[in-house]
Parts: sequence; C-alpha cells; structure tokens
Amino acid sequence: MNEHQQQLDRSAALAARDSRVLWHPCTQMKDHETLPPIAIKRGSGVWLEDFDGKRYLDAISSWWVNLFGHANPRINAALHDQLHLLEHVIFAGFTHEPAVRLSEQLVALTPPGLTRCFFADNGSAAVEVAIKMSFHYWRNHGKPGKTRFITLANSYHGETLGALAVGNVDLYKSLYKPLLMEVLTAPSPDCYFCSPGESWEQHSVKMFERMERMLEDHADQVAAVIVEPLVQCAGGMRMYHAAYLARLREACNRHGVHLIADEIAVGFGRTGTMFACEQAGISPDFMCLSKGLTGGYLPLSVVVTTDDVYAAFYDDYAKLTAFLHSHSYTGNPLACAAALATLDIFATESIIERNRTTAAYLGRRSRELANHPHVTEVRQCGMIVAIEFAKDKRSREPYPWTERRGRRIYGHALAEGVLLRPIGDVVYFMPPYTVNEAEIDLMVRIAAEGIELATCD
Ligand code: PMP
Repeated sequence: MNEHQQQLDRSAALAARDSRVLWHPCTQMKDHETLPPIAIKRGSGVWLEDFDGKRYLDAISSWWVNLFGHANPRINAALHDQLHLLEHVIFAGFTHEPAVRLSEQLVALTPPGLTRCFFADNGSAAVEVAIKMSFHYWRNHGKPGKTRFITLANSYHGETLGALAVGNVDLYKSLYKPLLMEVLTAPSPDCYFCSPGESWEQHSVKMFERMERMLEDHADQVAAVIVEPLVQCAGGMRMYHAAYLARLREACNRHGVHLIADEIAVGFGRTGTMFACEQAGISPDFMCLSKGLTGGYLPLSVVVTTDDVYAAFYDDYAKLTAFLHSHSYTGNPLACAAALATLDIFATESIIERNRTTAAYLGRRSRELANHPHVTEVRQCGMIVAIEFAKDKRSREPYPWTERRGRRIYGHALAEGVLLRPIGDVVYFMPPYTVNEAEIDLMVRIAAEGIELATCD
C-alpha cells in the first residue's frame, strides 16, 4: 500500500472511530451521515490540511479564535519555553509570572479604568463571572434588589445557563428557557433594519430610546446591561454604530447600572481597533475577553474590571464579601504564555495598522457580491465581513430556515478547499490577520459560487 493510500485510510478510519465515540459541539450528529467530520492532520498559517493532503483555507479562524495563523512560530516557541518551566499550578494562594505579566499588559491595553484581571478558562465562564460579580457588587453595597440584567435582542454570550440566559439567539436559547433566569430584553441597534436613507448612526441612536426607557423604569432592579460591542457575531454578524455604546455608557452611569462589554469575539483587533469599545471612547465596568486572547491556541478567558468593583469585595473574611468563584484551570500558565506571545506580536508587528490595508482589500472584494440578485447586504466592521442573502432582495424576505441554504455553501466551500461556516443565510469572513490578497480572492470567489449555488432554485 502506498503512503497516500495509507493516509486516506487513516482519515476514513478516524472518521469511523469518531462516529462511534464522539459527540461534536453545535452539531446534529445525524448530519455526519452525509458529511462526516474532516480529520485534520496539521495546520500552517491560514491553512488546515487533512490526511489526504487536501488544504482548507480557515476563513473563520476556527470559530473566531485564531489571529496569527496555525502553528505560528512565535507562539509555538513561547509555549515550548513555558512547557519546560511550569504547565499548571493552582491559582488560589499561588501565582506565576505569565499571569502577572499578562495582567499588567491587559490593564495597560484595555480602556482606562480597567485595572483588575480575573481569569477563567472559556468565554462563557467569563460571562458567568461578570454577571455574578455585578450582582455581588450591588449586594456588597447594600443593594440586594439589583438582580436583573438587560440584554439586547439577537445577542449571544455563550452556552452555560447564565450566559445563555443573557443571550437572545432563539435557536440556542428557547428550548432551555425553563432553566434560565429571566432578563429584560431591549431591541437591537442592528443596522440591517435601517430605514431607507437612514444612516447607521441615526438608526442605532434611534434604537437607544427603548434602552433608555428600560433603564429609567427598572434601574433599581438592574445590576448590569450586557452587550457585544459593535458586532452581534453569533446573531449573524449584525453590526451597529458606536454612538449606541457611547449613549449606553452615559445612561448606565446616570442610572447606577454596570455595563458589561462582551468582547470575547470582537476583542483583539477584530473590529479595526484593539477593542471595539475604543471606537465609542468608553470604558465598561467589566470587559470579557477570550478567543483571540491566546491567538487561538488554548482556552483562557479574563474579566477585566475596575478598582471600584474590586474594592467592593475587599474586606475581612468574616464579612463574607469575597468572590468565591473558581475554575480548576484558572490562569493556566501555558495559556498565559500563548497570550503573552500573541500580545507581543501585536506590539512588534503593527498589526492594527496592517489590518487596515487587509480589511480594505477584503471589503472591496466582498462588496462585489452586493450586486447578486439575492444578496441583501454586504457589511463590514474591520476584519469582519458578512454577506447576507434572502429569498427576496427587495423585501428581504428570508428563505425558510428548514431549507438550510447556508449549508449548501458550507459543503461547496469545503469541496473547494475553503472553510466557511454560514450562520443561517449569512456568509461571513473572519480570517486570521495573516491572510494575503490571493487567499482573500479565493475566499470571495468560493463564497460567490456558494451563494449562487444556494440561491439558484
Ligand atoms: N460571547 C461571545 C460574544 C461569543 O461570540 C462567544 C463564543 N462564540 C462566547 C461569549 C462564548 O465563548 P465560549 O465558546 O468560549 O464559551
């Protein structure tokens, strides 16, 4: 048997073994009867490679985590060095240099006033930390009645029960409603719904009126408002104007309510600035970060908060004001080392500036798809581009969801060597920042073919 055949057999054998013992995330496993999972052997730059030697352009950064390519030499080296020193240590009662250095750098990089880092190990856990901390802060301040949270329609904050409760994507949430705390839901400032002639700014500011009223009516019961700044990613890469965030910050201050910025997906340069909040000139009370934090290498998350919040928990033990929340892998040294290497790349390679050129090209090429008879919008925020299609371009009437047209695009793109993973009828690009023009051309061409294929009947 030649080597190529052996590799192919290995791939098929892995898929078969997978089907016997594995249960994949966010997947109807029966779908694998027609499209089995692809066994990836290695990654390099923006490319993933299977056992057949076939390559796939990772246009979605492996669920939005990868910033500087797979097997990045600088992150690899940092991990290698750390591995020889310390793989993990309990983070209660102990500390280590990677966590201290990373926290110093995060405090310096995040908007002014964010001075304290609390680590967890995935995005949902960071959201749980932020909502528990906010509630607990008010309790420590003698306001135990502030138990509710305001969230935006179409938002997504993770899958654990607290994070799911403050999210609003029905597909993930509605079934579990009996298990979830009730939240107040304000309409989204999402600019897909702009009226003709209305600017994004006008629309988002108009949508703020309902949020203002909700704060007026409920501030005494509300601990915090939680938002995904600028882009509602899992909600279909829906975007809105920074003016909404500026108003929200001001209103939260006026009403004595915390602001939680979930920058888990949009942080670390995705929207064109290091953090999306910068575009509104605001500092939240809690900023949740994960995904790109380690360059896409290891699970790690952090909630960065203020002196004021920290001080509310600082007292004699017997007062029982401490935040007794923990995860076994909190502040894992390897993950912190990967994060430090990631921040080092930002610092030494002018990534935010370079991304401007890449984003301009990505946007220019993607906008060519706007003329397609079923494409309703091509929108962009920094290194995120989304192309939405519908049954009727003018009325924007969507295709019935049961037709799963986005899945046709997924299948076509895989066959052509591009990993796209449409959210419903929204195709999007969220590539590693190292993507080049030829790779962007390929992504756009395959997306265009896919959209044609998905809308031709
Ligand atoms: N918040 C946002 C904005 C996200 O996009 C995600 C993940 N897609 C999460 C929270 C949850 O992160 P994790 O999947 O690491 O739990």
